[in-house]
Amino acid sequence: MIPTNKYWRWVENAVFIYAFFLIISRDWIKPFFVYLWETLQGKGLITGVQEQFKEGLFSESFLVILWEIIIVFTLWEIGKVIYEAFKSEKNKPWTFEKGSSIFKYIAKTIKPTFLATFFPVFLPKLIQLDVFKMVEPFFNKFSFHVIHFHWYSWIYGYLIWELSTWVWHYCFHRVRMFWCFHSPHHAPNDLTLTTAWVHFFAEGYITTFMQWIILSIAGVPFEMIFPVIWGIEVGWGTFIHAGERSLKKGRLGFLKHFLITPSHHRVHHAKNPLYMDTNFCTFLPFWDWLFGTLQPLKDEVKIEYGITRKMDVTNFIDFYFGEFIVLFSDVKNAKGIKNKLLYLVKPPGWEPETNEHTAAEVRKKFLTQYPGLDATSKKYLFEKQFKLNRQVS
Ligand SMILES: [Zn+2]
Ligand SMILES: [Zn+2]
Repeated sequence: MIPTNKYWRWVENAVFIYAFFLIISRDWIKPFFVYLWETLQGKGLITGVQEQFKEGLFSESFLVILWEIIIVFTLWEIGKVIYEAFKSEKNKPWTFEKGSSIFKYIAKTIKPTFLATFFPVFLPKLIQLDVFKMVEPFFNKFSFHVIHFHWYSWIYGYLIWELSTWVWHYCFHRVRMFWCFHSPHHAPNDLTLTTAWVHFFAEGYITTFMQWIILSIAGVPFEMIFPVIWGIEVGWGTFIHAGERSLKKGRLGFLKHFLITPSHHRVHHAKNPLYMDTNFCTFLPFWDWLFGTLQPLKDEVKIEYGITRKMDVTNFIDFYFGEFIVLFSDVKNAKGIKNKLLYLVKPPGWEPETNEHTAAEVRKKFLTQYPGLDATSKKYLFEKQFKLNRQVS
């Protein structure tokens, strides 16, 4: 755990309360009632969706509906967290301690969201579009094929986009220096839709760079990504953070075979040995399936959210910069330049003498104890193959 000054914690708490009321009222409640009011006037949500649908803007109609669901679910989840906090202290008389426990309960679940949304306002803004524009002209030269806007091009474009998502996400879990940028998103030890907003401010600089190299080489044009593909990515990527408070199972029925569901993404946010470093895709499970990282939720293994390092999620410095601080001290204490460099590029948990604490090894060890739970697509295919061979021979 990274210790911080007690006065700084007071500043954090004050900022959390301020950010909470500001963001909830300005970004969620107000737009929601504006939509509702406009709908009652016959010019808002429903009319908008119908018009877009008539004009063939299907993805826009879909996204408008999805965003309304997200807003309602987000407010519902936050309301439920507050209700749980009061309920847990119901029978106690009103004292300072009671108020403080209620605050701590709420802070444990949603403080990271509001601080991670509020503090980066003072840091250089994410310039994803600018990164795309910077990288594209250079790598476009290597493009083997430029696609046009046929219906099948959209499928190709989306699959390449998802491949680029899988690649950056995999690297950010498997390479320690990248993991530092991604870890704040995995820090919350509870999952609500607000977790979708928790990102390290500079993460997008590198992920966008990686993605655009792949997209440029594969010939997917900028106009195809923005706004349609990117809109679906952001919309669906937010929706799959719906926690148990709004969707109990989140498996979405038969859709689980074709789409990444909230249930899949809950597995991604889990720190259980079986679940770590799986389900990297956002919308389509294709690449996870192909590369053997698709892991369905197992009823036998209850999800524990968060990261494996001991950490205080209500401490902004700890959850936002903690992994950088720990990596820095590991590199500093490592013997020899080779080990220092390996710390940067090896997976989290790697130590000079052993791989034992990396997610891949922890998972392998777990599966030797519970082989029946191994159900990734890769294993499934290989097992089928083995069974077939056995039957044949
Ligand atoms: Zn991740
Ligand atoms: Zn997530």
